[in-house]
Amino acid sequence: MLPASLLLNWYEKNARDLPWRRTHDPYVVWISEIMLQQTQVETVLPHFTAWFERFPGIASLAAASLDDVLKAWEGLGYYRRARFIHIAAQQVITEHHGQFPHAYDNILKLPGIGRSTAGAIASFCFDANTPILDGNVKRVLKCWHGTADVSENQLWCWAQYALDASGDAATWNQAMMELGATVCSPNTPDCSSCPVSRHCTSAFGTVETVHPGKAAKVMDVHWHVALYLHPEKGIWLTRRPASGIWAELWTPPITELDEPPARKPTYVHLLTHRRLHLYGKVLKTEPSGNGQWVSDITKFALPTGIHRLLEKHGGEI
Ligand code: SF4
Repeated sequence: MLPASLLLNWYEKNARDLPWRRTHDPYVVWISEIMLQQTQVETVLPHFTAWFERFPGIASLAAASLDDVLKAWEGLGYYRRARFIHIAAQQVITEHHGQFPHAYDNILKLPGIGRSTAGAIASFCFDANTPILDGNVKRVLKCWHGTADVSENQLWCWAQYALDASGDAATWNQAMMELGATVCSPNTPDCSSCPVSRHCTSAFGTVETVHPGKAAKVMDVHWHVALYLHPEKGIWLTRRPASGIWAELWTPPITELDEPPARKPTYVHLLTHRRLHLYGKVLKTEPSGNGQWVSDITKFALPTGIHRLLEKHGGEI
């Protein structure tokens, strides 16, 4: 049995000072947990501060338009998260009288909040004995037990068991995430700096099974991006469909190409499973179909890939 104090003491001395760790406010913790899913801490930090300037409380978030919420999320990617946050905020207003629910089961019912995020909020804000199981924690648990071949159920059991033994759920959860994020990293675990290496089955050498460093399979997609420009009216933008890549964000009209064109893409944008080759073409003709002229794109939520493409065409726009 791994002595919990080893990890708790290490965390006390080594924890990064992150703004969401200085509060027990469930609104703040919730937003930070969602932002941190699949997004690096360094990317999240400036957005985190700006978010609370724009939406200081759940009421202001619930009352905002979806466009405003997507705009505030710009640069964080995975926009589905922002849409769920918006719906969940409205649900907190209508179903919980504006108070973020305290009980784990009720937190779990909010859209976009899974078991791990609910566990994080309940333990950090309401002292619940609920474990978390994000990617970092899973990796650490697999290392300790020396196997990558383990069911989700078993991982939850291990997580709960270790949490119960720690006697301090909130700090334990933070410490597990911190160890996974800063020491037991996916490809280069720093076992010599690890506070629990003496108790870890995978320490120093047998970590391939749980640190496979496997790259995700990426598919190439080729998109023609029609840049209708007008000296007074600006640029023609359309809203993307409600599902799929960049759902509900604003972009110039995009057409998927069956074959890559002979010319080089203007910009290549990488998503988790897609490499988007964007071929911008400036058009001075009149656009047709759904869309609108936009003279100030800063007021609209555009994906980062389109911002980069427009920068490449900067001289012409
Ligand atoms: S000893 Fe190495 S493999 Fe084990 S938890 Fe620590 S960093 Fe990860």
